[in-house]
Amino acid sequence: MAIAEHGMMPTNVAGRCVTEGGLMVDLSDMRAIEVDPDASTTRAQGGALWSELNEAAAVHGLAVTGGAISSTGVGGYTLGGGLGWLMATQGLAADNLIGVELVTADGSVLDVNDESHPDLMWALRGGGGNFGVAASFTFRMHPLTMVVGGLIAHPVDAARDMLRFYRDAVADCPDELTVFAALVHAPDGSGLKVAGMIVFHTDPSRADAELAPFLEWGSPLVTHVGPMPYPVMNTLLDEGYPKGALNYWLSSFTTGLSDALIDTMIQRFETVPSPMSGMVLEHFHGAVTRIEPTATAVPHRDTGFNLLLPSEWMDPADTEKNITWTKDTYAAISEHLAAGRWLNYLGDDQADDAIRAAYGPNFDRLREVKPRYDPDNVFHLNHNIVP
Ligand SMILES: Cc1cc2nc3c(=O)[nH]c(=O)nc-3n(C[C@H](O)[C@H](O)[C@H](O)COP(=O)(O)OP(=O)(O)OC[C@H]3O[C@@H](n4cnc5c(N)ncnc54)[C@H](O)[C@@H]3O)c2cc1C
Repeated sequence: MAIAEHGMMPTNVAGRCVTEGGLMVDLSDMRAIEVDPDASTTRAQGGALWSELNEAAAVHGLAVTGGAISSTGVGGYTLGGGLGWLMATQGLAADNLIGVELVTADGSVLDVNDESHPDLMWALRGGGGNFGVAASFTFRMHPLTMVVGGLIAHPVDAARDMLRFYRDAVADCPDELTVFAALVHAPDGSGLKVAGMIVFHTDPSRADAELAPFLEWGSPLVTHVGPMPYPVMNTLLDEGYPKGALNYWLSSFTTGLSDALIDTMIQRFETVPSPMSGMVLEHFHGAVTRIEPTATAVPHRDTGFNLLLPSEWMDPADTEKNITWTKDTYAAISEHLAAGRWLNYLGDDQADDAIRAAYGPNFDRLREVKPRYDPDNVFHLNHNIVP
């Protein structure tokens, strides 16, 4: 069984929600969002998108960690952990999940929370779509209105120096500041390669001072950074992920950001076949790293970097060369990779050991919980935990 967040554009990278010979549950009409400002909670139906949740919560000056691209579905994203701009102040989306209305394989409707079903609630915080259809998700929310964020693009020739600067500059940054670095193409269609930093600060009163080192470094081609409502931050990169694009992503946590890894990234970026593809370093620090690896189903709690290769192209004729480049690049950087893999980014062709690497030390406990709610593995067209 597969579940789609909405009919037009399921956003699972590996296309997990589309199936042949199975049943596809389309939640596209289940998009209602209720915000309770007094309790600081938000309940979103299983087919809602992050753009919709962000906007509804912002009306009340509230927010919770959501996808860096606003078209991402609340459902799959949250069940897979959910990393985003607010993870250093609030933790992952899954860390803020306090309740799920879940339809299980036998048709039961469970009101799942820490008191009613502690084992299942633990598993839903990062165990993927293995346990049932989530009719709704309830999140603990946090006060947030304006943030400061945006993009700084340097010439690709500066990539080596910029990535070394980035590594050192984020080493002791406060929770309120999160910076991702990327080797990407300019979004104007010119195909120009750039080395960029995407900056985000949750406290406008401190942002000027704490962003200054990033803004003042080098000679950027473009600096597009300023105050904005939080939901806008989550739309800044949307254009890079258009409907209809073909995707093949690989990612892994790294063992650091050594000079050797930086050099290999730059070397591989020289041969990237698609002007839509790139490499992104996602910095984990702050609140997300202060949660015990076994406290939820998401074990990835070390300070450091997740390196994502989000390959994208439009023409099916280009599929083979793009997949080959992505796999070859992943192989080239493999000596710099740590054991952990981010579940939400796993491809469809990843072997069982990738799923184990994504669940890490929580795999065995997930295997104990799975048969209590889905003994026949009805929900198996996902990053499957075989009971
Ligand atoms: C452009 C883009 C940007 C992304 N950015 C991020 C990011 O910033 N951080 C991050 O962590 N991940 C990110 N991802 C990865 C994304 O979180 C996963 O691909 C996720 O599976 C998408 O969930 P969805 O609900 O949108 O997808 P869908 O394709 O609708 O669903 C994927 C699978 O999730 C499960 N699922 C979805 N909804 C439910 C539900 N209501 N009940 C039960 N199971 C359900 C099902 O197994 C389903 O097959 C991004 C992906 C894309 C394509």
